Amino acid sequence: MIDAYVGLGSNLGDPLAQLRRAVRALAALPGTRLCAVSPRYRNRPLGPADQPDYVNAVARLATDLAPRDLLAALQGIERDQGRVRGGRRWGPRTLDLDLLLYGDEVIDEPGLRVPHPGLAERDFVVLPLARVAPPDLTVPGQGRLAALAARFDPAALIVVDHDDPAATLHRH
Ligand code: AMP
Repeated sequence: MIDAYVGLGSNLGDPLAQLRRAVRALAALPGTRLCAVSPRYRNRPLGPADQPDYVNAVARLATDLAPRDLLAALQGIERDQGRVRGGRRWGPRTLDLDLLLYGDEVIDEPGLRVPHPGLAERDFVVLPLARVAPPDLTVPGQGRLAALAARFDPAALIVVDHDDPAATLHRH
């Protein structure tokens, strides 16, 4: 099985509930085990400012799915949870799932880039990723995750559900 990391984000329609549903759907994917889920972090949206704050998290999976199949499964979960494709870029969305990392693979194909572009620049991706990944994880092309995480101020993100037992599901 390959370790894969999925970024989750929502800023519409009860984001915490959206993320909980998405985590359940990830856990139910075929050939896939849900290993860990980071705390949920609240932060300001990228792009247009006239939209609610985002809630973001990262899930760690162990999967037998090929990268394309995993991406298709993520898009299926997004569709099931009511995201309308073709909206304005960075506009509000009920659920956004990104394939952040797939083992140590580098994939650059139409419709699929791994590591996910922009990963290293985003505190709301790097900080939750660092909560669920092994301390020595290397992001292909970017270096050690610990070094990427050290560039960000953890106080810039607010943990919204410390006391949610599902949120602290279990560092390895
Ligand atoms: P977005 O609307 O920003 O979530 O982008 C969705 C589009 O990005 C889809 O058409 C995907 O095919 C493409 N994409 C490319 N690489 C990835 C990735 N690693 N994870 C998720 N979507 C990706």
